[in-house]
Amino acid sequence: MPSRREEAFVLTRYPVRERDLVVVLLTRASGQVRIVARRARTLRSSQATAMEPLAHIRVTYFERAGAELATLDEAEVVRSAFPLAGNPPAWAAGQVVCELALLYCPPGQRVEPAFRLVDRCVSCLLDGHEPASVAHYAELWFLKLGGVFPELDRCGVCGVDLPEGARIYDPADRHFTCPEHRPARSAVRISAPGARWLVRASRLPLEEVTEPAPEDAAGWLFGLREHFTDRQVQSWRYLRHLLEDST
Ligand SMILES: [Zn+2]
Repeated sequence: MPSRREEAFVLTRYPVRERDLVVVLLTRASGQVRIVARRARTLRSSQATAMEPLAHIRVTYFERAGAELATLDEAEVVRSAFPLAGNPPAWAAGQVVCELALLYCPPGQRVEPAFRLVDRCVSCLLDGHEPASVAHYAELWFLKLGGVFPELDRCGVCGVDLPEGARIYDPADRHFTCPEHRPARSAVRISAPGARWLVRASRLPLEEVTEPAPEDAAGWLFGLREHFTDRQVQSWRYLRHLLEDST
């Protein structure tokens, strides 16, 4: 059986059979990989820490041709996300990032930019970045990496540059428009602050995006993701709940 050594993030894990654990990884070189950790309950503690959600790890695993699950050989922690456990909103934002990675990075596709995005999000959360802004940034960038994020600065009909300020979005044709090409019905308006957040987040590193998206921009991002992936992100409910509690 060929073995592989990779850098990865633990996206999620679940128990199988009596003592095994399936761990879903986003690897730098091979995208999403599912590995089974046999007798996970008896793993050495360093290995167990490496199987914690959001952990950045180096892992060696065996792959058998045609098998759905690889088998864990060894794992070591590069950076644990354990400190986030003491900050529930940051932990929840990390869960949103993981869920998005699961949605956008199917097994068998190499997605190094997605790996770098998850890396940046988890690092920022560990460095104390505002949690909702991280989750919104991940929503925007997974759409961009998926190639389904519309151009913000040009009318999708005539190509004219759109000035700063509020934006009109055509949900039927999925592009922004100038006032002249505003769709006759169902136009979605994004306020000037919402549009400014989208422009900034699509151009700047996460470190410089310290505010969550305004509500209209966030709602628009969710609508776009639901359209393309047909899925809701359950962790958002938890994150929202925690953020409401803290205000
Ligand atoms: Zn136009």
